[in-house]
Amino acid sequence: MLILLNLDAPRQDIEAIKRKVIGYNCQPHEIPGESNLAIGITGPTHKLVEDEYRFMNSVIEVVRVSKKYKLVSRQMKKNDTVVKTKFGDIGGKELTIIAGPCSVESRDQLFRIAESLSQLGVKFLRGGAYKPRSSPYAFRGLGEEGLRLLDDVKKEFGMGIVTEVLSADTIPLVAEVADIIQIGARNMQNFILLDEVGKINTPILLKRGLAATVEDLLLSAEYILAQGNFNVILCERGIRTFETSTRNTLDLNAIPVIKKNSHLPILVDPSHGIGIRDKVPPMALAGIAAGSDGIIIEVHNDPDNALSDGVQTITPEQMSILINKIKAIAPIVDRELN
Ligand code: PEP
Ligand code: MN
Repeated sequence: MLILLNLDAPRQDIEAIKRKVIGYNCQPHEIPGESNLAIGITGPTHKLVEDEYRFMNSVIEVVRVSKKYKLVSRQMKKNDTVVKTKFGDIGGKELTIIAGPCSVESRDQLFRIAESLSQLGVKFLRGGAYKPRSSPYAFRGLGEEGLRLLDDVKKEFGMGIVTEVLSADTIPLVAEVADIIQIGARNMQNFILLDEVGKINTPILLKRGLAATVEDLLLSAEYILAQGNFNVILCERGIRTFETSTRNTLDLNAIPVIKKNSHLPILVDPSHGIGIRDKVPPMALAGIAAGSDGIIIEVHNDPDNALSDGVQTITPEQMSILINKIKAIAPIVDRELN
């Protein structure tokens, strides 16, 4: 259920509503909006009687939310959410580019890549310190040492850091370095982890699971918002289908569907989405054309020798060409890339 209030509603009116809702074992969530103040209510909302709230002070309207997901839905919040970071906003007019290696491999590797990308104007550097790998014998990341390298590179080049968290116990360590914490596809339905990242304020990049529907993705995001963290960015990164000529099938349909049903920003990951280096740039452009808020893309100075995902990783030179193309198409979809 959603209760809309006047923007200038006095605190005592807001608190009176919250108290009443809590009395029914429901949870009130104040939702930041532009034209109204909204209180989203989750929990056993069938116990609530709309008219009891409709006539309370400062209340404009009471709305039942019909979707399974509530706080992430457009019904709860009409305006797009813009996730703010020190290194730029995600979800506004400006497109977001997050680029970098799949894994942090060494100081030399990370600094070289960061230098090339910062020269191209890229504001966010990606790189995994903790890597979820299909095989236990594959390179699983440098762990804490990788986090330290990310922190050093951030200080040197002033780029925002995007890196994955795999387990709840490492959230504090990762949050110290990350400007955006990634929850990978394999953990999209690790509900305990989702609860835990919901309790911090760091923006969360939630990647779609390999076999997750759009509704599954939105319900997973709901876990994070329900704990109080509204700084969630969704990511379409390809799903498993019967097609074998590409690693995954990048589901571009998800972009306009999510834009209609949710206020959260969404990025496209063309690298994991198609999985083949020379085919990554056209799918990045397709993602932007479909209305995504930007891309997260794998870039490496020596992709053929990368310790993970080299076959789908482009070079800084290819990235430079891609950025110019994104700049060219941005105005067509009413976006900017500065
Ligand atoms: C990654 O970003 O390198 C990664 C492991 O992504 P995903 O979780 O989408 O497979
Ligand atoms: Mn990868």
